[in-house]
Amino acid sequence: MSETSAGPPEVARQPEPVVELRSITVRFPGVLSLDGVDLTVRSGEVHAVMGENGAGKSTLIKALTGVYRIDEGTIRVHGEHRHFGSTRDAQLAGIATVYQEVNLCPNLTVGENVMLGHEPRRRGRIDWAATHATAAVHLAALGLGDIDTKSALDRHPIAVQQLIAISRAMVLESSVLILDEPTSSLDRDEVARLFGVIRELRSKGVAILFVSHFLDQVYEISDRITVLRNGRLVGDYATADLPRGELVTKMIGREIDDLREIARATERDIDRTAEPVLSARGVGRRGAIEPADLDVFDGEVVGLAGLLGSGRSEFARLLCGADGADSGELRVHGRAVRFASPRKAIRHGIVFSSEDRRAEGIVGELSVAENIVLGIRAGRGWFRNIRRAEVDAVVSEFMEALGIRPADPNMLVGNLSGGNQQKVLLARWLATAPELLILDEPTRGIDVGAKADIQRKVADLARDGLSVIFISSELEEVLRLAQRIAVMRDRRRVGELEAARTDVQGLIDYIANAVGDDDLAVGGAVA
Ligand code: ADP
Ligand code: MG
Repeated sequence: MSETSAGPPEVARQPEPVVELRSITVRFPGVLSLDGVDLTVRSGEVHAVMGENGAGKSTLIKALTGVYRIDEGTIRVHGEHRHFGSTRDAQLAGIATVYQEVNLCPNLTVGENVMLGHEPRRRGRIDWAATHATAAVHLAALGLGDIDTKSALDRHPIAVQQLIAISRAMVLESSVLILDEPTSSLDRDEVARLFGVIRELRSKGVAILFVSHFLDQVYEISDRITVLRNGRLVGDYATADLPRGELVTKMIGREIDDLREIARATERDIDRTAEPVLSARGVGRRGAIEPADLDVFDGEVVGLAGLLGSGRSEFARLLCGADGADSGELRVHGRAVRFASPRKAIRHGIVFSSEDRRAEGIVGELSVAENIVLGIRAGRGWFRNIRRAEVDAVVSEFMEALGIRPADPNMLVGNLSGGNQQKVLLARWLATAPELLILDEPTRGIDVGAKADIQRKVADLARDGLSVIFISSELEEVLRLAQRIAVMRDRRRVGELEAARTDVQGLIDYIANAVGDDDLAVGGAVA
């Protein structure tokens, strides 16, 4: 583990809160995005807001900065009740926000961006020499003295533009700096540089709100952590007092389901001396997932576990051609392959069922039968006809095998329940007679009965020789179905576990603490 950086000076004598949010509730049609959330941020502290995707982190920031109207609750800044109508209002009160997409003027110079609206003047006119000189002083104060103030902003990579945006926030004398997932597209060196700037600001007494779901980074940089889950506050903790395993448990919560009747499939013997069905070596994509390895053997279920946003889906998408890898090598039964599209992968017997069943999966306006044959069509080419009798046979076989209800092939899929839609999607891919099935969250948000049906089907198919990569946020489910579990964290593969030798707590500890089986630079992005 990397050493934790020194906290703010004299933590014991707590400085006054700069920002106090109390009982903040934000509703959208059909969604309670925030449900009575509190947040306190003090000067000279880096305060992380953590939670899985959709937990409400961005909504909390937007509620504070006047992007979203709050339905209930109070906001105090420097002790005064405030209610910002816009980000500009918030900015005037000293609260600056730097988003991933930098909100500056791309065609102006760096110096002009830093000083915009605050340019030094001489006899009523902007003094450009002084403008650039002052900008250079501000940049240097954050250790950014090497950036040429006369270069055009859009000449610089996003990472540097973010740092320039932070300099600008300091010109505006912001006392609070908010960074919402600033590191999600940065590489390690860029993160190191950003963290250098953050430390500099902390020592100057700026309150920094750092939104992230990257564990290593949060432990590296933050003094306190507020955890959100499903729009609710879980708690506010001193980073040093919160072990990683506990943080992960707090982020994911634990919902034990009652599907224990499906025996764990882990005892099965898998022949790992044979050639793997799929073998990935160093497969990665810049900004999405660091190069990772994975082997899947005949009849084996390999789980991918990690927090939401840890890179599980990103990795799976590279294995099936849904996204292009920019490094590494894939082999199917030992033969090197390259999938330019999911269709190419289907031809090699590899199918992928996306976690987003509405956007990438089922077509609500088509019937159950039509949805099921879509996979076969995708594999054979759209213009090849499939015989009616073949369609009927395949459709009724899978509707029955998966227990799709109602048992009407002509029903529009949009009218089925979520669980039955998910079964239709699974039927679609099984109908292509795949060798390897990649399932991304196949049971999320569906009823318990359908969930059990799907788990049972996956276990049966694997016993009959189908290989499966199984992604799920429910660790119980992964442990029940998989023989091996690859663990991902912060967009890296950090290790692998035998399912038979661990349990939910063991898996949580591994997700939180694993040191990485192929990487020595452990404990954070900064060396
Ligand atoms: P996070 O940043 O933690 O990933 P968000 O704050 O973006 O989560 O989202 C929390 C919840 O609020 C999600 O369910 C999201 O779909 C919902 N949500 C956020 N913004 C909106 C919006 N403008 N309209 C409707 N729902 C929203
Ligand atoms: Mg967000």
